Amino acid sequence: MSDIFKAILISRDKEKNQSVDIADFTDDDLMDGDVTVAIEATTVNYKDGLAIKGSPGIIQRWPMVPGIDLAGKVISSSHNEYNTGDKVILNGWGLGQSHYGTYAARARVNGDWLVPMPENMNSMDAMAIGTAGYTAMLCIMALERHGITPDRGPIIVTGAAGGVGSIAISVLSKLGYHVIASTGRASEEAYLKDLGATEIIDRTELSEPGRPLGKERWAGAVDAVGSHTLANVLSQTTYGGAVAACGLAQGYDLPATVMPFILRGVSLLGVDSVHAPKELRLEAWSRLASDLDMAKLASLSTTIGFDDIISTAHDIIDGKIRGRVVVDMATDA
Ligand code: NDP
Repeated sequence: MSDIFKAILISRDKEKNQSVDIADFTDDDLMDGDVTVAIEATTVNYKDGLAIKGSPGIIQRWPMVPGIDLAGKVISSSHNEYNTGDKVILNGWGLGQSHYGTYAARARVNGDWLVPMPENMNSMDAMAIGTAGYTAMLCIMALERHGITPDRGPIIVTGAAGGVGSIAISVLSKLGYHVIASTGRASEEAYLKDLGATEIIDRTELSEPGRPLGKERWAGAVDAVGSHTLANVLSQTTYGGAVAACGLAQGYDLPATVMPFILRGVSLLGVDSVHAPKELRLEAWSRLASDLDMAKLASLSTTIGFDDIISTAHDIIDGKIRGRVVVDMATDA
């Protein structure tokens, strides 16, 4: 008989009321796949918070083990690219939504979803980055592909003290950009400046309905917030600039006008991490290994154990989490 291990399991009853429990699993309970991974670390992302809180549209199959990110070691594989003992990372691909996710000691997955762990990283580093950090990198790569360079002008990062925001600031500052951080937490000014933000603005400057075009203030943006914030970011982007949009912390609406697009040639670049193709993932993880200062990564992350995941998931939606949270699965799992 295979070992018993703990998994967080989200279920719902006939009335669609959701419950979150800790279940005993064995390998037989895992879903189909050609690689089984012993999960050494995972993390709590905003999307994990939404899943555990029961927001509609996140979980697509019940019951579900939530958790969208893993780092760990291959324990069995029939996939031609992976062998027992290989260190791997997985972000997205429906884990924790339509395929059993990472809040369990093991996951069985499609090997095509994995990326090899970069050489200078361990599982804890990789999950301090996690989907939030890998998405921040995808946003920066999208801006670069659009021709945005440090000499074009400042970059604004919204949702600055959150996971995407903190990693975006760290990478952009290492690349030489002048970074403007938009935050609702004035108390985090020193933290954001330590990460590399040059200027801090209060998020209320951007979160209310604004004018179709404003003063040109930044050449680019990494926006994790959406709604009026994204509309105002667009309206204050300089001629020919670009905004990478990845999040909806304020809302999924976009109450904007076409004016920044048709009068200033501003581009809105959509960024999705879940189904991003493998080449892009490999590029993003390789860039993170070279362009993210590991000392800053340590300063922006907090470590918790398996038993803290559920309460932390509630905290992230309530805006109480700064930077990134790593779940050390060697603790309590
Ligand atoms: P976090 O919760 O860590 O950060 C979100 C930040 O947004 C908060 O820290 C806060 O920053 C800001 N914020 C929260 N509520 C509001 C509000 N009502 N108005 C304005 N700002 C607000 O989440 P992540 O960084 O992990 O994710 C950020 C967003 O990106 C989420 O919407 C998430 O779903 C999305 N995302 C999308 C991905 C994709 O593939 N497209 C992948 C990963 C994340 P502060 O305190 O500084 O104001």
